[in-house]
Amino acid sequence: MNNTISDIKITKCQSSKINEVDFENLVFGNIFTDHMLLCDYKDGVWQQPEIVPYAPFLMDPSSKVFHYGQAIFEGMKAYKDAHDDIWLFRPDQNFDRFNKSATRLAMPEVPEEVFIGGLKQLIQLEKDWVKHGNGSALYIRPFMIATGHGVIAAPSTEYRFMIILSPAKSYYSGEVKVIIAEHFSRAANGGIGAAKAAGNYSGQFYPTKLANEEGFQQIIWTDDATHTKLEEAGTMNVFFRINDVLYTAPTSERILDGVTRKSVIDLAKREGIQVEVRSVLVDELVQAAKDGSLKEIFGAGTAAVINPIAGFSYKGEYFELPKMENSFAQEIKTKLTGIQTKELEDTFGWTVKV
Ligand SMILES: *Cc1c(COP(=O)(O)O)cnc(C)c1O
Repeated sequence: MNNTISDIKITKCQSSKINEVDFENLVFGNIFTDHMLLCDYKDGVWQQPEIVPYAPFLMDPSSKVFHYGQAIFEGMKAYKDAHDDIWLFRPDQNFDRFNKSATRLAMPEVPEEVFIGGLKQLIQLEKDWVKHGNGSALYIRPFMIATGHGVIAAPSTEYRFMIILSPAKSYYSGEVKVIIAEHFSRAANGGIGAAKAAGNYSGQFYPTKLANEEGFQQIIWTDDATHTKLEEAGTMNVFFRINDVLYTAPTSERILDGVTRKSVIDLAKREGIQVEVRSVLVDELVQAAKDGSLKEIFGAGTAAVINPIAGFSYKGEYFELPKMENSFAQEIKTKLTGIQTKELEDTFGWTVKV
Protein backbone atom coordinates (compact mmCIF):
# COMPACT_ATOMS: atom_id res chain seq x y z
CA MET A 1 0.00 0.00 0.00
CA ASN A 2 1.78 3.10 -1.17
CA ASN A 3 0.15 5.79 0.85
CA THR A 4 2.97 7.97 2.07
CA ILE A 5 3.19 11.28 0.37
CA SER A 6 6.40 13.21 0.25
CA ASP A 7 4.83 16.47 -0.81
CA ILE A 8 2.99 17.31 2.39
CA LYS A 9 4.07 20.78 3.33
CA ILE A 10 5.06 20.79 7.00
CA THR A 11 5.18 23.94 9.08
CA LYS A 12 6.28 23.14 12.63
CA CYS A 13 5.14 25.02 15.68
CA GLN A 14 7.69 27.13 17.51
CA SER A 15 7.39 25.41 20.85
CA SER A 16 5.50 22.31 21.94
CA LYS A 17 2.82 22.54 24.62
CA ILE A 18 3.33 18.91 25.61
CA ASN A 19 5.01 19.79 28.93
CA GLU A 20 1.93 21.69 30.05
CA VAL A 21 -0.30 18.63 29.66
CA ASP A 22 -1.24 16.46 32.64
CA PHE A 23 -1.36 13.07 30.93
CA GLU A 24 -2.70 11.38 34.06
CA ASN A 25 -5.84 13.51 34.18
CA LEU A 26 -7.03 13.89 30.64
CA VAL A 27 -10.63 14.75 29.89
CA PHE A 28 -11.67 12.92 26.72
CA GLY A 29 -11.21 14.94 23.53
CA ASN A 30 -10.34 18.17 25.25
CA ILE A 31 -6.66 18.71 24.52
CA PHE A 32 -5.09 18.57 21.09
CA THR A 33 -1.54 17.99 19.95
CA ASP A 34 0.76 20.66 18.49
CA HIS A 35 -0.09 20.13 14.82
CA MET A 36 -3.02 19.38 12.54
CA LEU A 37 -3.37 18.26 8.95
CA LEU A 38 -5.45 20.12 6.44
CA CYS A 39 -6.20 19.67 2.79
CA ASP A 40 -8.52 21.88 0.76
CA TYR A 41 -10.67 20.85 -2.17
CA LYS A 42 -11.42 23.42 -4.84
CA ASP A 43 -11.88 23.66 -8.60
CA GLY A 44 -12.71 19.95 -8.54
CA VAL A 45 -9.35 18.83 -7.14
CA TRP A 46 -7.64 18.21 -3.85
CA GLN A 47 -4.89 20.73 -3.20
CA GLN A 48 -1.54 20.02 -1.53
CA PRO A 49 -2.03 18.70 2.02
CA GLU A 50 -0.34 20.63 4.79
CA ILE A 51 0.62 19.98 8.37
CA VAL A 52 0.51 23.21 10.34
CA PRO A 53 0.50 24.28 14.00
CA TYR A 54 -2.85 23.53 15.68
CA ALA A 55 -4.78 26.79 15.59
CA PRO A 56 -8.16 28.35 14.80
CA PHE A 57 -8.77 29.45 11.23
CA LEU A 58 -11.04 31.91 9.46
CA MET A 59 -14.17 30.93 7.60
CA ASP A 60 -16.75 32.86 5.65
CA PRO A 61 -20.00 33.21 7.65
CA SER A 62 -21.91 31.91 4.63
CA SER A 63 -19.86 28.69 4.48
CA LYS A 64 -22.25 25.88 3.69
CA VAL A 65 -21.31 23.81 6.73
CA PHE A 66 -22.84 26.46 9.01
CA HIS A 67 -26.16 26.46 7.19
CA TYR A 68 -26.69 22.99 5.77
CA GLY A 69 -24.55 20.79 7.97
CA GLN A 70 -22.41 19.27 5.26
CA ALA A 71 -19.96 17.74 7.69
CA ILE A 72 -18.65 14.22 8.34
CA PHE A 73 -16.06 12.73 10.63
CA GLU A 74 -14.28 9.61 11.82
CA GLY A 75 -12.98 8.42 15.18
CA MET A 76 -9.88 6.23 15.44
CA LYS A 77 -7.11 5.46 17.92
CA ALA A 78 -3.35 4.92 17.81
CA TYR A 79 -1.44 3.02 20.52
CA LYS A 80 2.25 2.82 21.44
CA ASP A 81 3.72 -0.61 22.18
CA ALA A 82 6.59 -1.57 24.50
CA HIS A 83 9.11 -0.97 21.69
CA ASP A 84 7.84 2.57 21.09
CA ASP A 85 6.22 1.59 17.82
CA ILE A 86 2.86 3.20 17.13
CA TRP A 87 -0.07 1.19 15.77
CA LEU A 88 -3.35 2.04 14.15
CA PHE A 89 -6.35 -0.29 14.43
CA ARG A 90 -7.99 -1.21 11.11
CA PRO A 91 -7.48 2.27 9.57
CA ASP A 92 -8.60 0.97 6.17
CA GLN A 93 -12.08 0.51 7.64
CA ASN A 94 -12.28 4.12 8.78
CA PHE A 95 -10.94 5.33 5.45
CA ASP A 96 -13.55 3.37 3.50
CA ARG A 97 -16.34 4.48 5.79
CA PHE A 98 -15.25 8.10 5.58
CA ASN A 99 -15.58 8.05 1.82
CA LYS A 100 -18.95 6.32 2.03
CA SER A 101 -20.09 9.08 4.37
CA ALA A 102 -18.68 11.65 1.93
CA THR A 103 -20.67 10.18 -0.95
CA ARG A 104 -23.88 10.16 1.09
CA LEU A 105 -23.43 13.85 1.96
CA ALA A 106 -22.58 14.77 -1.67
CA MET A 107 -18.99 15.54 -0.71
CA PRO A 108 -15.84 14.52 -2.66
CA GLU A 109 -13.96 11.35 -1.64
CA VAL A 110 -10.63 11.95 0.05
CA PRO A 111 -7.60 10.22 -1.53
CA GLU A 112 -5.91 7.47 0.46
CA GLU A 113 -2.55 9.31 0.33
CA VAL A 114 -4.16 12.23 2.12
CA PHE A 115 -6.23 10.30 4.66
CA ILE A 116 -3.90 7.40 5.53
CA GLY A 117 -0.60 8.83 4.32
CA GLY A 118 -1.26 12.23 5.87
CA LEU A 119 -2.37 10.62 9.13
CA LYS A 120 0.83 8.59 9.40
CA GLN A 121 3.01 11.64 8.83
CA LEU A 122 1.04 13.67 11.35
CA ILE A 123 1.36 10.93 13.98
CA GLN A 124 5.11 10.59 13.31
CA LEU A 125 5.45 14.26 14.07
CA GLU A 126 3.39 13.91 17.27
CA LYS A 127 4.78 10.57 18.45
CA ASP A 128 5.72 11.89 21.90
CA TRP A 129 2.02 12.53 22.53
CA VAL A 130 1.27 8.81 22.35
CA LYS A 131 1.92 7.28 25.77
CA HIS A 132 2.46 3.66 26.78
CA GLY A 133 0.12 1.26 28.45
CA ASN A 134 -2.88 1.34 30.68
CA GLY A 135 -5.50 2.56 28.30
CA SER A 136 -3.38 5.38 26.93
CA ALA A 137 -4.02 6.17 23.29
CA LEU A 138 -4.06 8.95 20.77
CA TYR A 139 -7.61 9.68 19.70
CA ILE A 140 -7.71 10.62 16.01
CA ARG A 141 -10.41 12.83 14.57
CA PRO A 142 -10.44 13.15 10.76
CA PHE A 143 -13.27 15.34 9.48
CA MET A 144 -14.47 17.23 6.44
CA ILE A 145 -16.55 20.40 6.24
CA ALA A 146 -18.13 22.37 3.40
CA THR A 147 -16.21 25.63 3.21
CA GLY A 148 -17.75 26.96 0.01
CA HIS A 149 -19.46 30.31 0.44
CA GLY A 150 -23.08 31.24 -0.27
CA VAL A 151 -26.35 30.28 1.34
CA ILE A 152 -27.94 28.78 -1.72
CA ALA A 153 -29.09 25.30 -0.67
CA ALA A 154 -26.82 23.21 -2.86
CA PRO A 155 -23.72 21.15 -2.16
CA SER A 156 -20.58 23.18 -1.69
CA THR A 157 -17.90 23.27 -4.34
CA GLU A 158 -15.17 23.76 -1.74
CA TYR A 159 -14.28 21.57 1.22
CA ARG A 160 -11.66 21.27 3.91
CA PHE A 161 -10.43 17.90 5.14
CA MET A 162 -8.62 17.96 8.48
CA ILE A 163 -7.12 15.63 11.06
CA ILE A 164 -6.69 16.63 14.67
CA LEU A 165 -5.25 14.44 17.44
CA SER A 166 -6.11 14.25 21.12
CA PRO A 167 -4.25 12.26 23.80
CA ALA A 168 -6.64 9.99 25.70
CA LYS A 169 -6.70 7.71 28.72
CA SER A 170 -8.94 4.69 28.90
CA TYR A 171 -12.47 5.95 28.76
CA TYR A 172 -14.54 5.19 31.80
CA SER A 173 -18.04 6.56 31.70
CA GLY A 174 -19.21 5.40 35.13
CA GLU A 175 -22.36 3.34 35.54
CA VAL A 176 -24.50 3.62 32.44
CA LYS A 177 -28.25 3.26 32.65
CA VAL A 178 -30.20 3.54 29.45
CA ILE A 179 -33.73 4.27 28.37
CA ILE A 180 -35.25 2.57 25.34
CA ALA A 181 -36.53 5.06 22.77
CA GLU A 182 -40.29 5.00 22.28
CA HIS A 183 -40.68 8.20 20.30
CA PHE A 184 -37.44 9.78 19.12
CA SER A 185 -35.26 8.23 16.42
CA ARG A 186 -31.58 8.53 15.62
CA ALA A 187 -31.95 7.45 12.01
CA ALA A 188 -34.57 6.49 9.46
CA ASN A 189 -34.70 4.33 6.36
CA GLY A 190 -33.37 6.32 3.44
CA GLY A 191 -31.72 8.79 5.80
CA ILE A 192 -28.10 9.38 6.80
CA GLY A 193 -27.90 7.09 9.84
CA ALA A 194 -25.28 4.85 8.25
CA ALA A 195 -23.01 7.83 7.56
CA LYS A 196 -20.84 9.38 10.25
CA ALA A 197 -22.49 12.72 9.65
CA ALA A 198 -22.32 15.54 12.18
CA GLY A 199 -26.09 16.01 11.98
CA ASN A 200 -26.74 12.52 13.34
CA TYR A 201 -25.14 13.68 16.57
CA SER A 202 -26.88 17.03 16.91
CA GLY A 203 -30.19 15.25 16.39
CA GLN A 204 -29.45 13.05 19.39
CA PHE A 205 -28.58 15.81 21.81
CA TYR A 206 -32.10 16.86 22.73
CA PRO A 207 -33.60 13.39 23.35
CA THR A 208 -30.42 12.47 25.26
CA LYS A 209 -30.77 15.61 27.37
CA LEU A 210 -34.33 14.57 28.26
CA ALA A 211 -33.05 11.10 29.18
CA ASN A 212 -30.30 12.66 31.33
CA GLU A 213 -32.94 14.65 33.20
CA GLU A 214 -34.66 11.37 34.05
CA GLY A 215 -31.41 9.88 35.36
CA PHE A 216 -30.34 7.89 32.30
CA GLN A 217 -26.99 8.44 30.60
CA GLN A 218 -27.91 7.13 27.19
CA ILE A 219 -30.71 6.09 24.91
CA ILE A 220 -31.07 2.74 23.21
CA TRP A 221 -32.36 3.67 19.79
CA THR A 222 -35.08 1.59 18.20
CA ASP A 223 -36.19 1.44 14.57
CA ASP A 224 -37.98 4.63 13.57
CA ALA A 225 -41.00 2.94 11.98
CA THR A 226 -42.17 0.69 14.81
CA HIS A 227 -39.85 1.30 17.80
CA THR A 228 -39.86 -2.44 18.39
CA LYS A 229 -36.31 -3.35 17.30
CA LEU A 230 -33.21 -2.49 19.28
CA GLU A 231 -30.61 -0.74 17.14
CA GLU A 232 -27.84 1.29 18.80
CA ALA A 233 -26.86 2.51 22.26
CA GLY A 234 -26.20 6.25 22.15
CA THR A 235 -23.42 6.61 19.60
CA MET A 236 -22.31 3.00 19.93
CA ASN A 237 -23.40 -0.28 18.45
CA VAL A 238 -25.13 -2.48 20.99
CA PHE A 239 -24.79 -6.12 22.04
CA PHE A 240 -27.11 -8.24 24.18
CA ARG A 241 -26.20 -11.45 25.99
CA ILE A 242 -29.18 -13.73 26.54
CA ASN A 243 -28.08 -16.89 28.33
CA ASP A 244 -24.72 -17.52 26.64
CA VAL A 245 -25.54 -16.17 23.20
CA LEU A 246 -24.42 -12.74 22.06
CA TYR A 247 -26.82 -10.83 19.81
CA THR A 248 -26.39 -7.68 17.76
CA ALA A 249 -28.51 -6.19 15.00
CA PRO A 250 -27.38 -6.44 11.38
CA THR A 251 -26.12 -3.14 9.96
CA SER A 252 -28.61 -1.28 7.82
CA GLU A 253 -29.39 2.19 6.56
CA ARG A 254 -30.20 3.08 10.17
CA ILE A 255 -27.24 1.46 11.89
CA LEU A 256 -23.66 2.59 11.65
CA ASP A 257 -21.24 -0.11 10.52
CA GLY A 258 -18.92 0.14 13.52
CA VAL A 259 -15.33 -1.11 13.36
CA THR A 260 -15.54 -2.12 17.02
CA ARG A 261 -18.81 -3.97 16.36
CA LYS A 262 -17.38 -6.10 13.57
CA SER A 263 -14.20 -6.73 15.57
CA VAL A 264 -16.24 -7.82 18.60
CA ILE A 265 -18.20 -10.27 16.45
CA ASP A 266 -15.03 -11.85 15.02
CA LEU A 267 -13.25 -11.92 18.36
CA ALA A 268 -16.20 -13.39 20.25
CA LYS A 269 -16.53 -16.14 17.65
CA ARG A 270 -12.82 -16.91 17.94
CA GLU A 271 -13.24 -17.18 21.72
CA GLY A 272 -15.96 -19.76 21.19
CA ILE A 273 -18.85 -17.47 22.04
CA GLN A 274 -22.00 -18.06 20.01
CA VAL A 275 -22.86 -14.84 18.14
CA GLU A 276 -26.10 -14.21 16.32
CA VAL A 277 -26.45 -11.19 14.07
CA ARG A 278 -30.17 -10.55 14.01
CA SER A 279 -32.65 -7.96 15.21
CA VAL A 280 -33.50 -8.19 18.88
CA LEU A 281 -36.99 -7.04 19.76
CA VAL A 282 -37.72 -4.79 22.72
CA ASP A 283 -40.30 -7.36 23.88
CA GLU A 284 -37.69 -10.10 23.79
CA LEU A 285 -35.35 -8.01 25.91
CA VAL A 286 -38.03 -7.24 28.48
CA GLN A 287 -39.03 -10.91 28.58
CA ALA A 288 -35.38 -11.99 29.00
CA ALA A 289 -34.90 -9.44 31.77
CA LYS A 290 -38.00 -10.77 33.54
CA ASP A 291 -37.08 -14.45 33.30
CA GLY A 292 -33.43 -13.84 34.21
CA SER A 293 -31.91 -14.98 30.91
CA LEU A 294 -30.69 -11.47 30.06
CA LYS A 295 -27.12 -11.37 31.36
CA GLU A 296 -25.48 -8.36 29.74
CA ILE A 297 -25.95 -5.36 27.50
CA PHE A 298 -22.96 -3.44 26.27
CA GLY A 299 -22.13 -0.73 23.77
CA ALA A 300 -19.19 -1.00 21.36
CA GLY A 301 -17.33 1.92 19.81
CA THR A 302 -13.83 3.33 19.38
CA ALA A 303 -13.84 5.81 22.27
CA ALA A 304 -14.90 3.47 25.08
CA VAL A 305 -14.19 0.20 23.21
CA ILE A 306 -16.77 -1.70 25.33
CA ASN A 307 -19.19 0.09 27.61
CA PRO A 308 -21.23 -2.18 29.94
CA ILE A 309 -24.79 -1.11 30.66
CA ALA A 310 -26.12 -1.50 34.19
CA GLY A 311 -29.83 -1.47 33.44
CA PHE A 312 -32.55 -0.21 31.14
CA SER A 313 -35.88 1.47 31.38
CA TYR A 314 -38.83 0.81 29.12
CA LYS A 315 -42.31 2.31 29.40
CA GLY A 316 -41.51 3.56 32.87
CA GLU A 317 -40.30 0.21 34.22
CA TYR A 318 -36.63 -0.19 35.19
CA PHE A 319 -34.76 -3.47 34.76
CA GLU A 320 -31.44 -3.85 36.55
CA LEU A 321 -28.96 -6.26 34.99
CA PRO A 322 -27.18 -8.87 37.12
CA LYS A 323 -23.60 -8.16 38.19
CA MET A 324 -21.58 -10.66 36.16
CA GLU A 325 -18.32 -12.20 37.37
CA ASN A 326 -16.89 -13.35 34.05
CA SER A 327 -18.73 -11.05 31.72
CA PHE A 328 -18.41 -11.28 27.96
CA ALA A 329 -17.96 -7.50 28.02
CA GLN A 330 -14.84 -7.72 30.17
CA GLU A 331 -13.40 -10.71 28.35
CA ILE A 332 -13.87 -9.15 24.94
CA LYS A 333 -12.59 -5.76 26.04
CA THR A 334 -9.41 -7.29 27.47
CA LYS A 335 -8.76 -9.27 24.30
CA LEU A 336 -9.56 -6.42 21.95
CA THR A 337 -7.49 -3.79 23.74
CA GLY A 338 -4.71 -6.39 24.05
CA ILE A 339 -4.64 -6.68 20.27
CA GLN A 340 -4.86 -2.91 19.79
CA THR A 341 -1.92 -2.25 22.12
CA LYS A 342 0.09 -5.21 20.77
CA GLU A 343 0.17 -6.96 24.16
CA LEU A 344 -1.67 -9.88 22.57
CA GLU A 345 -0.96 -11.47 19.24
CA ASP A 346 -2.97 -9.97 16.40
CA THR A 347 -4.05 -13.12 14.58
CA PHE A 348 -6.51 -11.11 12.50
CA GLY A 349 -3.97 -8.71 10.97
CA TRP A 350 -5.93 -5.72 12.23
CA THR A 351 -3.07 -3.56 13.46
CA VAL A 352 -1.08 -1.34 11.11
CA LYS A 353 2.26 0.18 12.02
CA VAL A 354 2.65 3.94 11.62
C1 LIG B 1 -18.94 5.96 15.38
C2 LIG B 1 -20.22 5.27 15.71
C3 LIG B 1 -20.26 3.93 16.18
C4 LIG B 1 -19.02 3.15 16.50
O1 LIG B 1 -18.18 2.92 15.41
P1 LIG B 1 -16.68 2.48 15.64
O2 LIG B 1 -16.15 2.34 14.27
O3 LIG B 1 -16.71 1.20 16.37
O4 LIG B 1 -16.03 3.56 16.44
C5 LIG B 1 -21.49 3.35 16.39
N1 LIG B 1 -22.63 4.02 16.18
C6 LIG B 1 -22.64 5.29 15.75
C7 LIG B 1 -23.94 5.98 15.55
C8 LIG B 1 -21.45 5.96 15.50
O5 LIG B 1 -21.46 7.23 15.08
